[in-house]
Amino acid sequence: MRYQKPKGTLDILPGESQKWQYVENVAQQIFSKYQYQEIRTPIFEQYEVFARSSGDTSDIVSKEMYDFEDKGGRRLALRPEGTAGVVRSYVENKLFGPEHNNPYKVWYHGPMFRYERPQSGRQRQFHQIGVEALGSDAPEMDVETISMALNFLNELGLKDYKVVLNTLGDVQTRKNYHQALLDYLTPLKEQLSADSQIRLMKNPLRILDSKEAQDQKLVADAPSILDYLTDAAKKHFQVVTNLLDQIGVAYEIDANMVRGLDYYNHTIFEIMVTSPAFDNREMTVIAGGRYNGLVAQLGGPDISGVGFGLGLERLMLLLEQANNNLPEFLGPDIYLVDVNDADSAAVSKLLTQLRQAGISAERDYLHKKVKGQFKQANRLHAKFTLTIGDEELATKKAQLKRMADGSEFTVDLTDLSGILQQIKKG
Ligand code: ATP
Ligand code: MG
Repeated sequence: MRYQKPKGTLDILPGESQKWQYVENVAQQIFSKYQYQEIRTPIFEQYEVFARSSGDTSDIVSKEMYDFEDKGGRRLALRPEGTAGVVRSYVENKLFGPEHNNPYKVWYHGPMFRYERPQSGRQRQFHQIGVEALGSDAPEMDVETISMALNFLNELGLKDYKVVLNTLGDVQTRKNYHQALLDYLTPLKEQLSADSQIRLMKNPLRILDSKEAQDQKLVADAPSILDYLTDAAKKHFQVVTNLLDQIGVAYEIDANMVRGLDYYNHTIFEIMVTSPAFDNREMTVIAGGRYNGLVAQLGGPDISGVGFGLGLERLMLLLEQANNNLPEFLGPDIYLVDVNDADSAAVSKLLTQLRQAGISAERDYLHKKVKGQFKQANRLHAKFTLTIGDEELATKKAQLKRMADGSEFTVDLTDLSGILQQIKKG
């Protein structure tokens, strides 16, 4: 039996994982400047949490979800996205209460699961970083969310992106537009894809998001939601675009852009990149928007929210392509070479002391000869070696060797701080 990882999953091996840690650290640093704190919610939730929030007819729920029954007969699902779990937690823990910050700003990172056809930048287990700000209706909050996303990309050295905006308006807007879309698409029903013919009855807005060429052709001439905005919705969007203009964020408006999930309204946005990393196709790296009805839909008060989700695999492909100098794992500061087995305990003791003092230190575990140990120290890119044998233990003096230039320093084995000082000098 040859075991293989499940289709659509990836092992993130050492070498690669440092890059992930780096990106997660940058996210943490940037987001905390905007006063977002990390939240960690379960990887699985009750099935209904996603069905209620994303909508039963969404692709995510109807086609892509990993749902299952546990041994106690509970219907659960691996999370396909992060927002629903965060909002469930916000409601369950009453984080809207007066003792909590308002808006309540959180970010998360972790694996998400969707049963999709795997390809470059599209997997069945993938990872997202996401942010949610709950409790404010203000268009300023939409703009903060967008500019925080851009700030994050800039910090990673990514600059060739395009910000695409749209508004889905408020409830009345959606109602008016729903009708206009029906009037336009119903006579064209036969030309729509099979999926979109179903969407036409259940949720025609979704047809705008179809990836089928035949649908996209028809959608190109569909009425624009921008012509159906209520005054309030128009005003919200105007403030958003004005603010973006004022802070110098360039954007395009795409009136046909919708989001795959039911819960969005008002401002939605995508940050897209065309890169050789995606065979020069345009790919969405960050997607988000406002979701004012979601908290209420999951049993909470009428509280609005705005956030985004970012696909980490796609981001990693971009970073690799951009060839930015991502940090690599550092080898040990010092490698202790033991001349014979008799010194082993002394070596282990010193090793522990060095590590406790904050130095990264390594030794041989394979009973290699001295020459082999030096070879290993080189392989690991150790900065120093310290050779310990019977003579060194007897005289308490040993040679610390700087691997970069081979220069040697005599150190006193009883003087740990002297050794540390020498190592820290480099
Ligand atoms: P797409 O239209 O590409 O399927 P989506 O609308 O389903 O995207 P969202 O649900 O908005 O995507 O998720 C936000 C981000 O998560 C996407 O922009 C993308 O970067 C990433 N993402 C979504 N699905 C996958 C996947 N299967 N594999 C890798 N990344 C993904
Ligand atoms: Mg998708």
